[in-house]
Amino acid sequence: MKIPDETLKNICKLGQGNECCRYLACGADGLECLKNTSARRLLDERVESGAMNAMGDNCLGDGAVAQLDAKIWPWKPGDKGFLCMPMQKNIPNPRHSDWKLVECPNCGNGCWESDQRRELLKNNLELKAMCTECALVAGIKGRGD
Ligand SMILES: [Zn+2]
Repeated sequence: MKIPDETLKNICKLGQGNECCRYLACGADGLECLKNTSARRLLDERVESGAMNAMGDNCLGDGAVAQLDAKIWPWKPGDKGFLCMPMQKNIPNPRHSDWKLVECPNCGNGCWESDQRRELLKNNLELKAMCTECALVAGIKGRGD
C-alpha cells in the first residue's frame, strides 16, 4: 500500500533521523509500510541490535493515523508492559558484550538480556521481560482489554 506524502512527513517522519519509522521500505510504486508484515520482527530486531538509524515506531502500520495505544517497545521508564528481548535465533551473534543469553520465561526460547534490561527489570517490578514473539502476542492480547 502506498503511503501518502502527508503521512510520510507527519507520521512516518521520513528523513527525521532516529524518529523516522523503522518499517518503511521502497516498494514498486513508492514507500511502503512493512509493519503489518512478517518483516516486522526482523526490523525490530535490527533496530535492537543497533543496525538501523531509523528507529521510529509511530503508528499502527500502513500509515494508519491512529497512534499506537499499547506500545510494546521502545519502552520508557514509567510505562507498564512488556520488555522485548531479542531472540537468539534472530541474532545469533550480538555485537554487545553485555548481552547475556537467558531463557524466555514464557516459552523457554533463548533470548538476549542486556545490562540496561537488567536494570529496568530490577527497578520496575511491573515490567515483564519475554522474547520478541511472546511480547508481540502478549501486546496484541493486552490491546483488547
Ligand atoms: Zn517467549
